[in-house]
Amino acid sequence: MIEYRNLRVALLGGGSVGAQVASLLLQHGDELASRSGAGLELVGVAVRNLDAERTPAIPAHLLTTDAESLILGADIVVELMGGLEPARTLILQAISSGADVVTANKALLATHGPELFEAAEQVGAQLYYEAAVGGAIPIIRPLRDSLAGDRVTRILGIVNGTTNFILDKMDVAGDTLEQALATATELGYAEADPTADIEGYDAAQKAAILASLAFHTTVPLDSVHREGITSVTAEQVDAARKSGYVVKLLAICERIALQNEAGESTGEFGVSARVHPALIPVAHPLAAVHGANNAVFVQAEAAGSLMFYGAGAGGIETASAVLGDLVSAARRHVIGGPGVAESTHANLPVLPISNVRTRYQITLTVVDEPGVLATIATVFSDQGVSLEAVSQTIGSGSEGAAPTATLVIVTHEASESSLATTVATLGSNPVVADVVSVLRVEGL
Ligand code: NAP
Repeated sequence: MIEYRNLRVALLGGGSVGAQVASLLLQHGDELASRSGAGLELVGVAVRNLDAERTPAIPAHLLTTDAESLILGADIVVELMGGLEPARTLILQAISSGADVVTANKALLATHGPELFEAAEQVGAQLYYEAAVGGAIPIIRPLRDSLAGDRVTRILGIVNGTTNFILDKMDVAGDTLEQALATATELGYAEADPTADIEGYDAAQKAAILASLAFHTTVPLDSVHREGITSVTAEQVDAARKSGYVVKLLAICERIALQNEAGESTGEFGVSARVHPALIPVAHPLAAVHGANNAVFVQAEAAGSLMFYGAGAGGIETASAVLGDLVSAARRHVIGGPGVAESTHANLPVLPISNVRTRYQITLTVVDEPGVLATIATVFSDQGVSLEAVSQTIGSGSEGAAPTATLVIVTHEASESSLATTVATLGSNPVVADVVSVLRVEGL
């Protein structure tokens, strides 16, 4: 029996996600009310164009272009407009008028998250953002609540469906990047301008959000190292498959033990967030994430390894996460009390990529003559980079030129800075005809 008053819900945006949220809220209102303990009354939907066609349709009397008036008097404001402005200003207005806010806006959170969380904390409001990372996949709540008693050490995420679709197509069908991107565009997985996806900007925003939450530390977007997939070649993907790996665009967030100059642990920690293509072993659970799906693999000290998998985008799928937040916000209203502030108590230093240690696979074309392997091994050992495996295939070399061979070298863990110096030195060594590719190896 619902005794609490109806809560007024204002929806900002009636696009792919917003129209689905409106429709589900109108259809399942009674059930959501039973779960929330309060009725949820959709008081309006702010859009730009009142006459645009919407799927599913939104009743005309709910549509308005006056977002500012709509949020006045709302108990819960659901922001699904996207972009930085006017979303930021409207959310700040909603918070200052006492509303809780639900948003799916990763760009806004990665850029202005601390400002929004602080505004919410000051008035005891709550900002919910389950849909901002991984679409339908529950990952924000597990990190914030379920793992609140544990220490997260590492997150490996496939958090961008477009790039996963493209790399998967290159792996499974042998497509070039251009062919796979064309298919992604045709099927609606890639936008007309795919830059945000294929250059890793979208994944970097999600990495900043996940790292901030997991490590109780503000991780600014501009501290996230970012490389997209545009330099990944069909040959690299093919070679990876043959050596038991797949190439994925990963968002990697780590808690890193700091070391002194002698390489000893200082007992202190920093955090790092990075996005780049990486090789992962075919046996790793992330290797089984195909098509446009997303997955987030979390390692925590006590819990061990956990994986969260599902649809990373899509209007109705994302609406599921938004409605979950809406029910949480309604329950909070019914119970009363201030919202739970975003935890940044650890405030660990955010480290540049040069502090990261990982493994690498380096493919070289070398002159095929005695002593070359020893020369190459010396370049690695001079930088303190030890080798885990070396395989060699004899190439033919062009007619009249010295014969060449291809060396595929996998290193043990090494620092980014040692590896960068090693690769530069290899590039200028006369026995190396070409540094064909350098890829990080993760998930071992
Ligand atoms: P969308 O289809 O482009 O819809 C945006 C909506 O906001 C439209 O209804 C638009 O109105 C309205 N809008 C934009 N600017 C406005 C303004 N200045 N004043 C009033 N209304 C305005 O976007 P979406 O795909 O639903 O995405 C919404 C949010 O969810 C974004 O932050 C996105 O990153 C996030 N998200 C989306 C997905 C997904 O699969 N789509 C997944 C996860 C997260 P008109 O319709 O009149 O133009």
